[in-house]
Amino acid sequence: MALELRKDAEIWFLTGSQNLYGEETLKQVAIQSKEVADLLAANPLIPIKIVWKPVLLTAEAIRKACLDASSADNCLGVITWMHTFSPAKMWIAGLTALQKPLLHFHTQANSALPWESLDMDFMNLNQAAHGDREYGHIVTRINVPRKVVVGHASDAHAVGRIADWVHATIGWYTAQNLKMARFGDNMRYVAVTDGDKTSAQMRFGMSIESFGVNALIAAVEAATAKEIDALITEYESEFDIAPELRKGAERHESLRYAASIEVGLNNFLTAGGFSAFTTNFEDLGTLRQLPGLAVQRLMAKGYGFGGEGDWKTSALLRIIKSMAVGRQGGTSFMEDYTYHFGPGEPKILGAHMLEVCPTITSKKAKVEIHPLGIGGKEDPVRLVFTASPAAGRVIALMDMGDRFRMVSNEIEIVEPDAPLPNLPVACAVWKPQPSLATSAESWIYAGGSHHSVLTTAVSSETLSDFAKISGVELLVIDNETTVSNFQREIRWNNASFSTYSR
Ligand code: MN
Repeated sequence: MALELRKDAEIWFLTGSQNLYGEETLKQVAIQSKEVADLLAANPLIPIKIVWKPVLLTAEAIRKACLDASSADNCLGVITWMHTFSPAKMWIAGLTALQKPLLHFHTQANSALPWESLDMDFMNLNQAAHGDREYGHIVTRINVPRKVVVGHASDAHAVGRIADWVHATIGWYTAQNLKMARFGDNMRYVAVTDGDKTSAQMRFGMSIESFGVNALIAAVEAATAKEIDALITEYESEFDIAPELRKGAERHESLRYAASIEVGLNNFLTAGGFSAFTTNFEDLGTLRQLPGLAVQRLMAKGYGFGGEGDWKTSALLRIIKSMAVGRQGGTSFMEDYTYHFGPGEPKILGAHMLEVCPTITSKKAKVEIHPLGIGGKEDPVRLVFTASPAAGRVIALMDMGDRFRMVSNEIEIVEPDAPLPNLPVACAVWKPQPSLATSAESWIYAGGSHHSVLTTAVSSETLSDFAKISGVELLVIDNETTVSNFQREIRWNNASFSTYSR
């Protein structure tokens, strides 16, 4: 399935109050809370419809609203606000039943106080300052994961933080509905690409199933000349094709074979409703080329992918791509490959044998064919490009045995110090925060994998919101990081997650 958020996706806006105030005040509560919801709904930063629901006045109504939100497939999350005071024991049954991501918007109908006219009627109506604290107490006590955002609905910073969370709810929805096809297992003897797929389904909802590579080969062999022709036309319009691969040239047949892999993969994934996949160069059966161009093209359409059977990175890639909807930038499978320690500023060169997604470059990619040292197959066709400069982050997901852990490093993608005329693959060059040494030391202490997802489209706050929603540990390496503090955080997390049930 290519990336497309369901058209009917909604975030519900629930307002809490109580019957104490009388009809007149409650009418105003309804009008004002709808205005707040409408302000959010009208903000272009928020990619999903915000739907206001009638004000909740009783424990029964609250429980019903939370159950309805939990059972509505198109409801991706719930925003709550206590306009006036909503005694929080009324929220216990509802919050206990709630199965959707929760954001607590601590706000007010008015931004400024009307100092001159402020009277007890105004005070009676506008008491979220303490009403929301009563509610927050019970959310903390029940220990429901949530994000708290404080500010007025017209405040760009507050709404931006709500938007970040809405993007995270898309990631959670994606994880819950993710179906992955693994062609073969993970690379033999490799630790970090292995893991517990049943635990992954319990934690994230995703289903990760394996297929013999013969199933893929059958789909590749079933590709018709017409389907292949159509892709060749697309390649011609989107990419700069090496002369030897063009129509009539000596190696054009290799390009047609690469296109047949894309047709086969695409048809297989579409038929099965899969949104992510893995391949493994050790298990290609009679496939003539390692899938390169096909994988790059499918990643660009939004599919998750991990090389060497890396199903966790494939899932993470799909989830992060889904959260990028409506945002500038790109997201790719990535691997720390080789270092530039100096002279000049230290940098990391990231690449993979072939499989880097062209959404991270703004330039026209080249289609080329070169030998590959591993796999013992024919030369594979691939897209070659260099990632465009941008701020971003690399993120990894590991199975630590007792739990899943994410680690993220803030980076800046830069131009290579010099052209790379002899590098026949796509790559990205970046400066990691706070420095290469602290970044790599911390990453290694975290047990971070060599594979990652590089994104310039999804913010670190969205990532942190996603981690909270899914209950997964997230370690962040940024300009604030010192190795000693980072190691302390790992130790504390080991204690804090010791009662964790995955
Ligand atoms: Mn790799």
